[in-house]
Amino acid sequence: MECPKCTGTLCKKTYKDDICLHRCDVCAGLWVKPDALEKMKNEWMAEAVLDVGDPSVGSELNEVDDINCPEGHGKMFKTEDLRQHHIWFEQCLTCHGVFLDAGEFTDLKYETFLDRVRSLITGHRPAD
Ligand SMILES: [Zn+2]
Ligand SMILES: [Zn+2]
Repeated sequence: MECPKCTGTLCKKTYKDDICLHRCDVCAGLWVKPDALEKMKNEWMAEAVLDVGDPSVGSELNEVDDINCPEGHGKMFKTEDLRQHHIWFEQCLTCHGVFLDAGEFTDLKYETFLDRVRSLITGHRPAD
């Protein structure tokens, strides 16, 4: 598959046997399905292995928002992360695939982890 944001190729990657995604060999953007993305968020250090791109390249390409689904379903839509409103990514409404620019998965995962810690702290605060 061709990368929707640059001239690179999306190469298949597998992580821990059951997580399957594609990464662009030029801009290192990630093409991932929601179920794999959920699993990736729960994998310790998945971002260090998978999100290897340069975040400055990613933030430049984040400006490119008129892209088509690499699987050929037509235009993708810009979606805001439900929990972190500063993170925007493109999603295909047909196959629900998501394109994350380099650095975005790390951002997504790190904040998710912090949110979890925060809710843990809130949850254990004694009532007074
Ligand atoms: Zn690319
Ligand atoms: Zn699609």
